[in-house]
Amino acid sequence: MDSKDVANDLTKVLLTEKEILARLEELAHQIEVDYEGKDLLLVGVLKGATILMSDLTRALKRQVEVEWMAVSSYGSGTKSSGVVRILKDLDADITNRNVLIIEDILDSGLTLSWLQSNLRSRSAASVEILTLLRKPEAVKVDVEAKYIGFDIPPEFVVGYGLDYAEKYRNLRDIGVLSPVVYS
Ligand code: IMP
Ligand code: MG
Repeated sequence: MDSKDVANDLTKVLLTEKEILARLEELAHQIEVDYEGKDLLLVGVLKGATILMSDLTRALKRQVEVEWMAVSSYGSGTKSSGVVRILKDLDADITNRNVLIIEDILDSGLTLSWLQSNLRSRSAASVEILTLLRKPEAVKVDVEAKYIGFDIPPEFVVGYGLDYAEKYRNLRDIGVLSPVVYS
């Protein structure tokens, strides 16, 4: 669906699908350069990274393999606590592999920090992070994303894979969710 289909639920459109796809072309090019001559395994974090993964993989002009993980982080309300449980693990052994974690948004960073150290402990050759969005909170934590799509303001956003209560993932653009929706 398009922003106009849920216009009453959004306070603004932050990033259009067109802007996102243009940025993914740039990131894909950087990845091609950085991993030239090396194997590359993309590990998507379910479910937020699904749309991003499908567009990013097709923007890459090289072979890649794709794996998925599902994790749940416990916390009060909308804040994550850093206590993470694996709901779906990788199907592949990542020993000596170059792993690039694909995530929708870096907020507190607790989930990604845990995931990166978990994958590093499995003897991967490298474990880096690509996040489409980064919120200001993320600069405080000890997790460094090698590739960042966009730095965004500290507002709750939906679309392009990002949800509110499992809805809005199929919105083409990324928009700021109106507070009216949560009350
Ligand atoms: P954190 O970095 O450990 O705080 O957790 C990041 C996760 O919180 C993301 O993978 C999203 O599922 C969720 N999240 C954080 N901010 C937003 C947002 O603005 N919209 C939708 N989901 C969000
Ligand atoms: Mg979510």
